[in-house]
Amino acid sequence: MAAFTSLTDRLSQAFKHLRSKGKLSESDIDGTIREIRRALLDADVSLDVVRSFASRIRERALGEEVSQALNPAQQVVSIVNEELTKILGAGVDRPLNFAKKPPTVIMLAGLQGAGKTTLAGKLGYWLRDTGHTPLLVAADLQRPNAVTQLQVVGERAEVPVYAPEPGVQADSSDVVEPGQATGDPVKVAKDSIAFAQDKLYDTVIIDTAGRLGVDEQLMQQARNIRDAVNPNEILFVIDAMIGQDAVQTAKAFDEGVDFTGVVLSKLDGDARGGAALSVASVTGKPILFASTGEGLKDFEVFHPDRMASRILD
Ligand code: GDP
Repeated sequence: MAAFTSLTDRLSQAFKHLRSKGKLSESDIDGTIREIRRALLDADVSLDVVRSFASRIRERALGEEVSQALNPAQQVVSIVNEELTKILGAGVDRPLNFAKKPPTVIMLAGLQGAGKTTLAGKLGYWLRDTGHTPLLVAADLQRPNAVTQLQVVGERAEVPVYAPEPGVQADSSDVVEPGQATGDPVKVAKDSIAFAQDKLYDTVIIDTAGRLGVDEQLMQQARNIRDAVNPNEILFVIDAMIGQDAVQTAKAFDEGVDFTGVVLSKLDGDARGGAALSVASVTGKPILFASTGEGLKDFEVFHPDRMASRILD
């Protein structure tokens, strides 16, 4: 995975040095931990996360499970794998939470450009592919063209879009000219649920507005949408390439809307995607999906153990 190639190379170097040692001394272990720390920090994993990760590895690596292992170096690698899985999973590996009584409501939140609209299409496509009947909802009325953009995405994914615009399936009374961003996103979101119930859509995916920075007014709007539709999932979408800002942004959205899960986007991007790896650990919320490109199929269900193994491959 492009976002982690450099991290993977560096960790594999560290383990290669360790494997050349045979029986491990405390200083061998400390040397390896130093290499791991540097690799993680250079990949933009946050300092707090790296510190506690390194201290857990050190404690376990100096303990009996390594000193008594037939292959101590391999045992250290297993420990790193287990601890990385914990970081990535916040102790949780769970599927999407579907409502007992449809429709399931999924709300997307995140900064502008994080990949929410793209994700709406991917999620819709994936749900349709797995036998669901999704509906996309354009509740980003802040940005000109956001509605049109979702409609394009919906068309590509062959998933209908509910939007406050003429000429679409919506029977909303809010009408805006194409390209104009007006209307009440809370009403659109609320009406879309009744529409889905009526037309038997089983999953509603609500795209919401995002700003370039965290914005209290938009956070309030997101809360109002949340409170109006009571989502089964609030997915926080984070661009893996935003670097160290990822942690602050995630915390702000966690406080702002109390999201239920994380989606890492743009993991196909640059080689410093480590900041995104801190998000689950910092917020205690699970990562549910990973987005790995602009295409509809560049998307996968996230499993912390599999991702850890890929990073350590
Ligand atoms: P939004 O403002 O949060 O709705 O973000 P968009 O969905 O409009 O995405 C912003 C830009 O990122 C668009 O150009 C997308 O094509 C691109 N994008 C979204 N997800 C991915 C991804 O996983 N990988 C890559 N490479 N680009 C992505």
